[in-house]
Amino acid sequence: MKKLEYIKSQVSDLSPKDKQELITYLKNSYSVFSDYVNVKACPHCKSTKIVKNGTRNGHHKYICRNCKKNFTYRTKTPLSGIQKLNQWNIFIDDFMSLNLTPIRELKDKIGVSEQTVFNWRHKLLSALVLKDQVFENDIIEFDEANFLISRKGRQGMGIIDKNKYTRWRRSQVGESDYNVKVFVAYGRFSRQLNITRSNMGRTKKKDMEAYFTKERFKNIKVYCDMHPTYKGFFRDNGIPFETFLSKKHVSWDKPEVHNQTVNSYIRNFKDFTNIHLRGVSTKYIDLYLKWFQFIHETRLVVERQLSSGQKVKFNIADNICKEVVGNTAGLDIYRMLEFSYQLYLQANGRTDYGGCKNHYYKAKVIRTDLLG
Ligand SMILES: [Zn+2]
Repeated sequence: MKKLEYIKSQVSDLSPKDKQELITYLKNSYSVFSDYVNVKACPHCKSTKIVKNGTRNGHHKYICRNCKKNFTYRTKTPLSGIQKLNQWNIFIDDFMSLNLTPIRELKDKIGVSEQTVFNWRHKLLSALVLKDQVFENDIIEFDEANFLISRKGRQGMGIIDKNKYTRWRRSQVGESDYNVKVFVAYGRFSRQLNITRSNMGRTKKKDMEAYFTKERFKNIKVYCDMHPTYKGFFRDNGIPFETFLSKKHVSWDKPEVHNQTVNSYIRNFKDFTNIHLRGVSTKYIDLYLKWFQFIHETRLVVERQLSSGQKVKFNIADNICKEVVGNTAGLDIYRMLEFSYQLYLQANGRTDYGGCKNHYYKAKVIRTDLLG
C-alpha cells in the first residue's frame, strides 16, 4: 500500500498530458488476465531456470537460462500477438453464459472488426479443447447426436441449384455419411459431462474403441439404447451395460435405466448451436463442444462450493482465465484447425459435397508428411 500511496503522490505533479498518457498506459497494461499470470517455466523448452528481464506493457519479461530465449506470459499462448487485450473483459463476460452475443454486436462494443472477434473467440475456445476427464466407479448415460456437416462461412462452394441443395441437406438424417457423430456421456455419480466428436455416418466398433478408452472410463456401467454396435462392443470388452428401446429412452421394467439427463444436454447443445449461433461450421464444432462441456464442469464446481457451505472461490470467468493464461497447447490447436478439419474429412471419406460443384479442399492440400 505504501508503494501505491507513493505513486499517487507523484501523479499529482504530472502535467495534464502526462496524466493522460499514464491513463492510457494503465488501460493498456491491465487485462482481465493480469491477475492470473503465473509464469513457472519457459514456454519454448519447459525449463524452470528462468529469470525476470525487464518489463513490457506493465508485465514482466523473462529470459530462459536453458535456451536463452525471451518470453512473456503471453508467449506461445492463445493470447500471443493480440492487440487490445484490455478489451477482453467484455469478451470474457460474454463467454460466461451460453448466450454468446452475436459477433456483429460484440465488434461494436469492443471496437474491432468482425473477423477479429471471430478469431478471438476461436483462440479462446482452442485453449479448452484438450480438457478431458476421467469417469471412475460411475454409471454412465451414453448417447450420440448427429450434426449435419456444415460449411458455414465458406465461400465458393459452387452450389448449382439452391433448392436442390436445400432438399439434399434435409434428406441427410440419422446415420447419413454426412452427419458428424458426437458421443455424449454423463456420469450419474460424478455428474461429469463429456462431449466428443466422433466419426461420420454409422457408428462402428472402432469408434466405440476410440471413445471408451481405459484411461477415460474405469469401472463403469453403461445405460444406452439397443444399438447393435453398442451391445457388441460392451459385451466384447466386458463392460456391464443395460439397454432400452431407442424410441422410449427408458427401460420398460427398470425405471432407473434411462439416458434422459444426457438427452437433455444434447437438446440444450443443439439449441445453442442451431438456434442461438445459427449453425456452427464443422471445422469449429469441436471448439463449441468443449466449450459446452467446460461451462458444465465449471458450474458443477461452483455448485459444490455453494452446497458445502464454502465460500465460492471462483466463477466461470476465473476458470476461463486460468485455463488460457499459460496454456501453450491451444495456439497450436487454433492454427491447425483447418488442417485437422481436412484430415477428419479425409479419414471419413467425405471430401465431396452433395449438390455442389466444388469439393471441401483440393486433395493436394493434404500433407500427410506433417503427421509423423
Ligand atoms: Zn527455454
